[in-house]
Amino acid sequence: MNRQESNLNGKVVIRLRELKRFYRVGVEEIRALDGIDLEVRENEYIVVMGHSGSGKSTLMNILGCLDRPSEGVYELDGDNVTELGDSELARIRNERIGFVFQSFELLSQMNALKNVEMPLLYARNGWFGRAAKAKKALERVGLGDRVKHKPNQLSGGEKQRVAIARALVCKPSILLADEPTGNLDTKTSNSILELFDELHRQGQTIVMVTHEHDVAQHAKRIIRMRDGYIRSDRTTEEDNIHEAGQKAEETV
Ligand code: ADP
Ligand code: MG
Repeated sequence: MNRQESNLNGKVVIRLRELKRFYRVGVEEIRALDGIDLEVRENEYIVVMGHSGSGKSTLMNILGCLDRPSEGVYELDGDNVTELGDSELARIRNERIGFVFQSFELLSQMNALKNVEMPLLYARNGWFGRAAKAKKALERVGLGDRVKHKPNQLSGGEKQRVAIARALVCKPSILLADEPTGNLDTKTSNSILELFDELHRQGQTIVMVTHEHDVAQHAKRIIRMRDGYIRSDRTTEEDNIHEAGQKAEETV
């Protein structure tokens, strides 16, 4: 079963058409994204790989509505995000996207519960019952007994769990994670990846950036980027076979 076949059922959550993002630095134009076509379907678990500078974070920031493309179309749940104004974009980011960063990005003066409540303060119907919703999200990531702890009273893995709870609390269409285990030791990293596996089993759609082979093995589909474009898009199984073949060729 190839990627296309495995992917036909399930509704399209994300659709990108000829997506481009250029940066101008002095006289130079940097083509950080140079024509990305991509479909992500409900309950997919996708990993994005590629060398440093290949455009992974730029892509994630656009998917997360933290940035806008220079050209092309981005549809989320069938809505053309590229046509939205700033306040509508902020609402989409808040209600439909969960974003997890390598550096956790928690508010240091607030406890775990308050950190997780943050997105609810800005969401429609989020205010009512927000403490209970935040508590439930923390329980979901295994931190029901850490609600009053502030970030400096939590381990790295616990901080990332709080960030994941915050990303999930508005029940996003998509969970985006840019190197979420990049700051964690192997054991902690594995426990966070098991959490992502569990969220995927529960139906969550996930797109994650990593440069680590072991991390990528948790996903079902691997997209490899180079110089702002997608160089390959395969099931994890196909990718492993192909990359092993490449390595073998290189060594002879
Ligand atoms: P990756 O996450 O794969 O390492 P990035 O998406 O961060 O790559 O960067 C892609 C390219 O765009 C790189 O060449 C980088 O230097 C450039 N770039 C990223 N952000 C900016 C910016 N704000 N201004 C100018 N160039 C940028
Ligand atoms: Mg990056």
